[in-house]
Amino acid sequence: MLYLETAVARPLPHPLTYRLPAAEGRDLRPGVRLLVPLGREQVTGYLLAVSETPPAADFSVREIIEVIDPEPLFPAAMVPFFRWLAAYYHHPIGEVIETALPGGLNRRSRRSITVHDQGARHIEAHAQGLRKPPAWMARLQSPGRLESATVRSLWRAGSRRALLREWHEKGWITIEETVNRDAVREKTELCYAPADPGDPPHLKPSEQKTLAILGELGAEQGSEWVSRRDLNKRYRGAGAAARTLLAKGLLRARQRRVYRDPFGQRPPCYPEPETLTPEQTTVLAALKPALDRRSFAPFLLHGVTGSGKTEVYLQATAHCLASGRNVLLLVPEIALATQLEGNFLARFGDAVALLHSGLSQGERLDQWLRVCRGQARVVIGARSAVFAPLTDIGLIIVDEEHEGSYKQDNGFLYQGRDAAVLRGRQQEAVVILGSATPSVVSRRHAETGKYTLLTMKSRVADRPLPEVTVIDLKKVPTVSGRPPLFSPQLVAAVRQTLEAGNQSLIFLNRRGYANMMVCRDCGSAVQCRHCNISLTLHQHNGRLVCHYCGFALPAKTVCATCRSTDLMAVGSGTEKVEEELVRHFPRARIARLDRDISANRAAYMKILHAVRNREIDILVGTQMITKGHHFPHVTLVGVVWADAGLGMPDYKAGERTFQILTQVFGRAGRGEKEGRVVVQTHFPEHYSILTARGHDYDRLYEEEITLRRRLAYPPFSRLVNLRFEGKEEERVRAAARETADRLRVRAGKEKVAVLGPAPAPLVRLRGLYRWQVLLKGPHAGVQRLCLLLENGVGMPATVKMTVDVDPDSML
Ligand code: ADP
Ligand code: ZN
Ligand code: ZN
Repeated sequence: MLYLETAVARPLPHPLTYRLPAAEGRDLRPGVRLLVPLGREQVTGYLLAVSETPPAADFSVREIIEVIDPEPLFPAAMVPFFRWLAAYYHHPIGEVIETALPGGLNRRSRRSITVHDQGARHIEAHAQGLRKPPAWMARLQSPGRLESATVRSLWRAGSRRALLREWHEKGWITIEETVNRDAVREKTELCYAPADPGDPPHLKPSEQKTLAILGELGAEQGSEWVSRRDLNKRYRGAGAAARTLLAKGLLRARQRRVYRDPFGQRPPCYPEPETLTPEQTTVLAALKPALDRRSFAPFLLHGVTGSGKTEVYLQATAHCLASGRNVLLLVPEIALATQLEGNFLARFGDAVALLHSGLSQGERLDQWLRVCRGQARVVIGARSAVFAPLTDIGLIIVDEEHEGSYKQDNGFLYQGRDAAVLRGRQQEAVVILGSATPSVVSRRHAETGKYTLLTMKSRVADRPLPEVTVIDLKKVPTVSGRPPLFSPQLVAAVRQTLEAGNQSLIFLNRRGYANMMVCRDCGSAVQCRHCNISLTLHQHNGRLVCHYCGFALPAKTVCATCRSTDLMAVGSGTEKVEEELVRHFPRARIARLDRDISANRAAYMKILHAVRNREIDILVGTQMITKGHHFPHVTLVGVVWADAGLGMPDYKAGERTFQILTQVFGRAGRGEKEGRVVVQTHFPEHYSILTARGHDYDRLYEEEITLRRRLAYPPFSRLVNLRFEGKEEERVRAAARETADRLRVRAGKEKVAVLGPAPAPLVRLRGLYRWQVLLKGPHAGVQRLCLLLENGVGMPATVKMTVDVDPDSML
């Protein structure tokens, strides 16, 4: 007997063990899916390990129903990775793997049973021959297709399955397995290649033309096999001619597996530079020996915008591939389709697979299988690509490692960058975390020696960083009693840029549900007394609430700095900005780029191309316009309101604002022409604004690290946010309170602070009330407290608890 350790795709804290007769499981490898019984159900499980020793506990081990996949969907080397993630994030391992695999594979298999006319009579005769015919047999004594519920109940018992299979063999019934492979299927297309007929027969003109075009296309595509589709596209008569050519033996035909092309229109790329910059050379001189050592080595690559990090990634990748090992490149979701992707495609072509959530299920499966089968050696993707089924990874690159989008915000709440570092350690790989503005935590790791720091301080060709002008919004004269969206200085700067025939980027990062209260007299925002964090206005009950500790004030409060009562809620989005720009510059060509637009890749690419071709004068956008695009004719970057992020209920607000501003500033003056930046803010003295203006990361880091040490925020502690959700607020609050009380009993000993319960910033979402409890303390203590929560012990059925380890936002 074999014992199969199986992660069931259900919220169970641990894997389960099933059995299978040894004879049936000879070639069984971890990574295949199994259909297993769970209670009265059949569910998908993922095989983690096979053992010949029975488990210690004396419960009855059930037998699996069947093995679903002929080949593993992930390599065995990933099993420890999944186990670690499940333990660290306190998430059921089956759901971890379910999240990792491409969608469409996680559904249950379906099965239909049809009883044939003859078969029904045979079964009836068979039943009559038995002393005590079981009741279920009656259902198979009339011809036709069985209800799916009936099929499921029949299939539950092993003895019945054996008998049904026997009847299937005899042709009495037909069992059809429609395992979910139907949901996403591989695709093929007909291809032709020329053949040598020996004695060339006489050819019609259309046949000659077809052969000539086949040769042309073959040369262009670098393969003798050309698809019928491409052939027909170039010459309409090729379809008919190909049939006669086949008959004459001048063509060969076969079905070729096609990978649906997820790349669509390819993003632009730059030619390989002839020489490296001195900094690129130095950085690569550190990376290459590390790659050759084939052991875990994490690097933080801190390179200013425009310093040429892409070229470093490309050359490190080439070096790694040459040594026979594979490469994983993670990019933030919104940075896809950028120059980075274009360059990788240009250099590594067919070796590249792309995995991200923008792909259709079929495309994603295609890409996944290419990686599984070893046909792709470089995987590029967003956060979830950290689960790519690559074997023998030698290099993992995480570009823009500071980006918040590496954190998954629903279901399994993992951090893609952190998972990438762990995977690198398990696979003995080099890991490069790249950024112009490293996260404070990663930078700290470089300081303590956990990561090796590599820096690139100057831009390629010594282009200067742009000049930054800061406009104090408190001093901008109001227009009919309201502060205008654009200061006269910003309007003038846009006008000058237009007149010079150059382009402007106008940026506003408005995530927008939360308004913060800003004092009109002194410009400070209303903050929590205990947390150093802006309070959020809850319109529905007119209160200002701290999203970390629950501290609250009535909305009609006074400014803590100057005692003024003249407070205002602030906020405006990109659409408003676009509208205002049209009003100011009716003849300019204006476009907008934000999350709504980028959802459609074609529309997104169209705008990017238009900007590059200088068909657009002013581009308005959110963070989206700050990512990795190289627009050489952009000479002005305008920031409408730099403070949107500072109002977020978040200890990372200062860090994030600096990062975003630096990225935005980095878009100006990337070509021959010098760039300039105009920033509007209510807080010209805020350290985030001052340091961004001076391009001074080191000072930002010093400010942040001092603050974090004082308030014991990461990296000096670990945070875990426990969220409670339910339909009745009273129960949700009670569950949160009870949990907090239960944890407090142990918290002192573990030196962990239990904060709250407090209402979540979005206290009601999709009809559910949400409260939270925040744990803050040393890693081991926080982990031990979380273990007390496993299984949600003591949680009423009406309240759901989510554990968010290392929360990125508290929303
Ligand atoms: P980063 O990612 O660090 O912001 P990029 O990798 O986008 O910077 O590089 C900025 C520009 O510099 C690119 O357009 C690229 O063509 C150019 N570049 C990079 N390396 C070199 C080099 N060694 N020589 C000349 N140009 C280079
Ligand atoms: Zn004030
Ligand atoms: Zn607080």
